[in-house]
Amino acid sequence: TPRVFSGIQPSGGLTLGNYLGALKRFVDSQDRGIQSIYCMVDLHAITVWQDPEKLSRATRELCAGFIASGIDPARSILFNQSQVPEHAQMAWVFNCVARMGWMKRMTQFKDKAGKNAENASLGLFAYPALMAADILCYHATHVPVGEDQKQHLELTRDIATKFNHDYGVEFFPLTEPVIEGAATRVMSLRDGSKKMSKSDPSDMSRINMTDDADTIASKIRKARTDPDALPSEAKGLEDRPEARNLVNIYAALADMTVAQVLADVGGKQFSEFKPMLADLAVEKLSPISGEMARLMEQPDEIDAILRRGSDQARAIATPILEQTYDIMGIVR
Ligand code: ATP
Ligand code: MG
Repeated sequence: TPRVFSGIQPSGGLTLGNYLGALKRFVDSQDRGIQSIYCMVDLHAITVWQDPEKLSRATRELCAGFIASGIDPARSILFNQSQVPEHAQMAWVFNCVARMGWMKRMTQFKDKAGKNAENASLGLFAYPALMAADILCYHATHVPVGEDQKQHLELTRDIATKFNHDYGVEFFPLTEPVIEGAATRVMSLRDGSKKMSKSDPSDMSRINMTDDADTIASKIRKARTDPDALPSEAKGLEDRPEARNLVNIYAALADMTVAQVLADVGGKQFSEFKPMLADLAVEKLSPISGEMARLMEQPDEIDAILRRGSDQARAIATPILEQTYDIMGIVR
């Protein structure tokens, strides 16, 4: 039976990239009736230092973002990673399965560690093994993610394959990444070669889910573009990363294909297209941010949802960890 797992880090506020690449698609799997498990991955967030007060707030706000986007805690499991210790326990097993050479090839580590990799945390280096644990603790079959996580999903399959091979079992499934839609990689509004990220130091690089209408409009107006008019076919967006990004965002928000969008807006200047995009973004995001703000007034309610979710998650993860230990000959 199919089972979906995915996570988002409480490493800052949710962005439009998180919404289009992840949250909106999580709602799709839930609404197709597939058992879905969604996690606030706080143990991933602390691979870079987090201010304690901000981490607590970001965790609750993230949970509010899931619910406001349409995840129903009565149908899907919503919980906080650190509260299900099986993730960290399974991650240790996978640290012993994954090879140094595999980890050294991970581009996210290279991007996040920057020039001074010697000074990055050991946790940041081991991040993909914890991510494999997140997924395989539930024997998840499908993981909806943005494009940037594709390499980590491949590593998850490598870890599952090596474990199964080393112990001569067919225990862990080979999980499928689900990377679909017009906005699998939303780019920074300031730099068409960088992805939009909640941890980018520039607030102008991203649209936050909690930005108000004026802020959204002003960020889109100031977004980098080239001076040409929009093309009428997708081919015309090749070599125009900034233009392509804005069209992809429009298509994903409107639930249209890029071809459909360009059929409507081809020939327009950005001075005309940007306000259209801003109106659409406000129309789609403002009900969500309004609901997030409302939920944030009841932090106890959010904590109770997360607590219930972690009990449900543990009921699945505990026997899988126990079976893993049994396969390995660990005495318990
Ligand atoms: P950070 O900068 O702290 O890594 P982030 O914005 O990259 O934050 P994550 O918590 O790392 O967010 O990722 C959560 C999910 O959102 C993942 O599935 C990831 O692939 C997806 N995602 C993140 N950024 C984008 C983006 N720009 N476009 C599409 N999907 C994205
Ligand atoms: Mg990220």
